[in-house]
Amino acid sequence: MSDTIFGKIISGDIPTEFLYEDEHCVAINDIHPQAPVHVLVIPKKGIPRLVDATADDRDLLGHLMLAAGRIADQLGVADAFRLIVNNGAGAGQTVFHLHLHILAGKSFAEGQM
Ligand code: C5P
Repeated sequence: MSDTIFGKIISGDIPTEFLYEDEHCVAINDIHPQAPVHVLVIPKKGIPRLVDATADDRDLLGHLMLAAGRIADQLGVADAFRLIVNNGAGAGQTVFHLHLHILAGKSFAEGQM
């Protein structure tokens, strides 16, 4: 667990509705959605940033990607979603507990980030 808002959500200290949960991760709606669908996939293990993951986390990282696909499917957006990881404050990371953003439900113009 991490001493971040996501650590507290995962531990239950901050009660939050999980859209999805399994042994290794949870998914929640983003509190400030940037698209009609904006879901965060958060590992239960508190890795601060993607670059802090090690070879020991290989299976977990794969698991998060597969879970994101499954969640997108559950939400009916499997044919058009964007998956984002912000790594570091300079890239816009604000919560230092690794998470994947699933964004969908709006058009992402070609080449636009
Ligand atoms: O990648 P980054 O660290 O910027 O993403 C953190 C995300 O967590 C933001 O999109 C923010 O809206 C979301 N958030 C949330 N619930 C909180 C705190 C942050 O959904 N209580």
